[in-house]
Amino acid sequence: DKSKPNSAVNVPNDLDAFWMPFTANRAFKRAPKMIAGAKDMHYFTTDGRKIIDAAAGMWCSNAGHGRPQISAAIAAQAEALDFSPPFQFGQPKAFELASRIADLAPEGLDHVFFCNSGSEAADTALKIAMAWQQIRGQGGRTRFIGRERGYHGVGFGGTAVGGIGNNRKMFGTLLNGVDHLPATYDRDKQAFSKGEPEYGAHFADALEGLVNLHGANTIAAVIVEPMAGSTGVLPPPKGYLQKLREITRKHGILLIFDEVITGFGRLGHSFAAERYGVTPDMITFAKGVTNGAVPMGGVIASSEIHDAFMSGPDYAIELFHGYTYSAHPLACAAGLATLDLYRDEKLFENAKALEPVFADAVMSLKSEPNVVDIRTLGLTAGIDLAPMADGPGKRGFEAMNSAFHDHDLMLRIAGDTLALTPPLILNADQIGEIVDKVGRVIRAIA
Ligand code: PLP
Repeated sequence: DKSKPNSAVNVPNDLDAFWMPFTANRAFKRAPKMIAGAKDMHYFTTDGRKIIDAAAGMWCSNAGHGRPQISAAIAAQAEALDFSPPFQFGQPKAFELASRIADLAPEGLDHVFFCNSGSEAADTALKIAMAWQQIRGQGGRTRFIGRERGYHGVGFGGTAVGGIGNNRKMFGTLLNGVDHLPATYDRDKQAFSKGEPEYGAHFADALEGLVNLHGANTIAAVIVEPMAGSTGVLPPPKGYLQKLREITRKHGILLIFDEVITGFGRLGHSFAAERYGVTPDMITFAKGVTNGAVPMGGVIASSEIHDAFMSGPDYAIELFHGYTYSAHPLACAAGLATLDLYRDEKLFENAKALEPVFADAVMSLKSEPNVVDIRTLGLTAGIDLAPMADGPGKRGFEAMNSAFHDHDLMLRIAGDTLALTPPLILNADQIGEIVDKVGRVIRAIA
């Protein structure tokens, strides 16, 4: 019975072989946070505890966990068609899912290129941007502009346009010709804002400076997350994204929104582009498209971009890019079942309706010890804790461990920032439970 905590599940004796990603491996292996099952708003640990999920796994499981509609669709698809080649052959669900995603995207973004993760989506969008510029006779536009504190996955392209020092500094020169906008965060002017801060639209003006510095005719695209997630939930200042759109359009530079976490309802809309009324040239997505149940990512491109490739002899491949597992049948089946759930259970609407309740509840943590800022947007919150004297990131790490081991709560951290990004099936009681537990965690590690 998955609605009850599992009885203890065997844990392997030897944890040595698995080199865990983005993990403090030695600390984990001393005190493993081991998960055996999941249902709706909860995880179950291998020692039989029930943990409330305030992270939607990793911003993925927007419809909650263990949804039978999704697992049944995956199982049926595995029986019917396990794999078929995505190059030069097709399977119906890929076309169906692409149409469904294009329908959710802003008008004019009509074509979907599938891959398997947010990282692949970022690199795919960058490559399409560069190729498109070349096709239209602007082959000198090979630079990309990212943003400090941006995260676009871990491919060489995404790492290069990303703005996280630790993710970059061991990996040499990455991609040449990349520059970065400043981050949009200024604590003095924005602390404890709910939603989009009033201050900061002018951070977009730095793009004019970069255009002056490098020359518009060298820049292919600008890529930003509408809301930076991985560096601690940084909502866009009012008017900021609109300004980026105006400046990029003026200079023939493509604008890419990385919506890997903001897509599929996180901000109460299908995409952040819709919330802000700003249509970029491409949107990248991943995570929520399959509710996290099967890996999948993709790029939604404008017809203007897509159509530019559709020339030359019709037997010739138009874009020399793709992955063996692009539009994998299991991922497409999971994606279609997931989009049905989002629609039928009105989960984006639920996120929108709960946004003010969630914001008020999380802001009530304002006077807990060491809380130096709180930001909320959609069903997302970032809570900044003052670093411990003996090292940045340690208080956040202790909070995550205390939450899991002692308070039956899963949250994510970005340094000393606690990130709350619960599944969109959340209700007001569960908001109360999560916020109460976060308060206890913050006090426990004070
Ligand atoms: N882009 C953004 C905005 C993300 O938040 C993430 C992951 O958190 C990625 C890209 C990378 O996605 P993946 O880990 O699926 O490669």
